[in-house]
Amino acid sequence: MNFVLHGYPVSAGITIGYAHLVSTARLEVAHYEVPEIDVESEVQRFDAAIRQAREELGALKAHIPPGAPAEFEAFLNLHRMILDDSALSEAPRELIRTRRANAEWALVQQMEKLTARFDEIDDPYLRERKSDVQQAAERVLKVLTGDQGALPEPALSEEQKLIVVAHDLSPADMILFKRHHFGGFVTDVGGVTSHTAIVARSLGIPAIVGLHHARQTISEGELLIVDGMTGVLIVNPDPLVLAEYRLRQSQLGIERQKLKRLKSTPAATLDGTPVELFANIELPQDTPEAIEAGAEGVGLFRTEFLFLNRKDLPGEEEQFAAYREVAEAMQGRPVVLRTLDVGADKAMDGDGAPHTMPNPAMGLRAIRFCLAEPQMFLTQLRAILRASHYGRVRILLPMLAHAHEIEQTLALIKQAKQQLDERRQPYDQAVEVGGMIEIPAAALALPIFMRRLNFLSIGTNDLIQYTLAIDRTDDSVAHLYDPLHPAVLALVANTIQTATRGGMPVAVCGEMAGDLQLTRLLLGLGLRNFSMHPSQLLAIKERILRTNLGETQALAQRVLRAHDPAKTRELLARLNS
Ligand code: PEP
Ligand code: MG
Repeated sequence: MNFVLHGYPVSAGITIGYAHLVSTARLEVAHYEVPEIDVESEVQRFDAAIRQAREELGALKAHIPPGAPAEFEAFLNLHRMILDDSALSEAPRELIRTRRANAEWALVQQMEKLTARFDEIDDPYLRERKSDVQQAAERVLKVLTGDQGALPEPALSEEQKLIVVAHDLSPADMILFKRHHFGGFVTDVGGVTSHTAIVARSLGIPAIVGLHHARQTISEGELLIVDGMTGVLIVNPDPLVLAEYRLRQSQLGIERQKLKRLKSTPAATLDGTPVELFANIELPQDTPEAIEAGAEGVGLFRTEFLFLNRKDLPGEEEQFAAYREVAEAMQGRPVVLRTLDVGADKAMDGDGAPHTMPNPAMGLRAIRFCLAEPQMFLTQLRAILRASHYGRVRILLPMLAHAHEIEQTLALIKQAKQQLDERRQPYDQAVEVGGMIEIPAAALALPIFMRRLNFLSIGTNDLIQYTLAIDRTDDSVAHLYDPLHPAVLALVANTIQTATRGGMPVAVCGEMAGDLQLTRLLLGLGLRNFSMHPSQLLAIKERILRTNLGETQALAQRVLRAHDPAKTRELLARLNS
């Protein structure tokens, strides 16, 4: 049966491939009685599933992807130990025998019993082991239910592309997917600027979020068309539709190829006004792509991705090596290292993780968390400072709202410098420190920032989230996410103009910077530094090269004054015509 689902497009392009269902949530399992005669074979089925899950862990251990954190192996060992422990396996065997229960149900009963005990433990580290027990059990469950969920081998050819279909994927899951060459991603939940969507975009492959029923209605192996530009997912397309999409896909491929010619063309508008185009990265491994796209620097290195998918914190040496790698690879081009922005949808797993809060996006996130954990913050600051000796490193502070947050951070940077002086370790004495403008209060109180910092970077993803009071990860309010809302535009325009008048460099590093529909508007509002995923950079450059700045400025001012959404859309269409 063919059918169509609609969601939110998060990553341009079209992909055609086969559904691969991935489950990160605990599976619902059926409960049924096994005939007396089959009880022993049910026990054997259970034992075989445990064995297979162990083998899978062994195989994973033998093929740890190069970018995976060092703790990944320890994590696999722990899961293996859990599978070896009779506490997990003995009771289900009993249940199968005494209650003639099916293996899946018996396993879930024991898993729930074990995990309930973890809730009563005071020690947060031990309490956290609950999720390891769940994950190890889920691996067995997936074998039993025939839903492997494991990452398959990379696709071999265009025809064999796999499209990940999941109810939800965390940003941490997405980072692990970076090493696998999937053709696309589709999820039931998530907003367009959730970090999951951002990482999907950085993979440069078509993706759709907020599809609601994809995981439920699509079966493993079904043929899918993912249109990452419109958010349309077509399941089991008929031959005519398939042919049409294949044509569009190849046209897009040709356009992408053509864009590559612009790699070393300087970005400037038709009158010769230069524009800087920087890249956003999540891991050091993303740097070659930034260079390949002709980025003039890294405008946002989201360092928190080094802290995900692991149970402990990366130490100073590990962080230093990662930051230095990027600084050196960029060969003298600027590298803006954003200090740890965990919390909200980027949850750390283990030690030092912010506690679960009722409202994480507004809670102890980013700079707030770092200032609450000064030793951890100092470790990161020392690592960044040390890397500054090997390139043009700048420090960027996320989620600032108060003067005292800047002052405390500057004091910690001073302390980190003193510690390095004592150790006689070199660093750039004049390293610049900038602030993200991503809370409306910050955009309305710019002098607080301009007096104390060297540069600004507008984080439009959070600025929109906090201005319009919509959780960026919540697909039920995703339709209210609106970069063109007059309040958002007023804050963005005010920040660009005030900073520029005050002689302070200002960039946009949120997703607005990589949105082709908004390039001219931002140029017209005075923006000259854009930072975005490398995959978007050349298309944005092409748009800039074809922009008449004079006309654009006049129209952008009119957009700013328009308070009628229809008028705004009409003016935007004229800007982009
Ligand atoms: C932003 O908020 O726009 C931003 C660039 O930071 P992040 O998306 O990582 O929150
Ligand atoms: Mg942000």
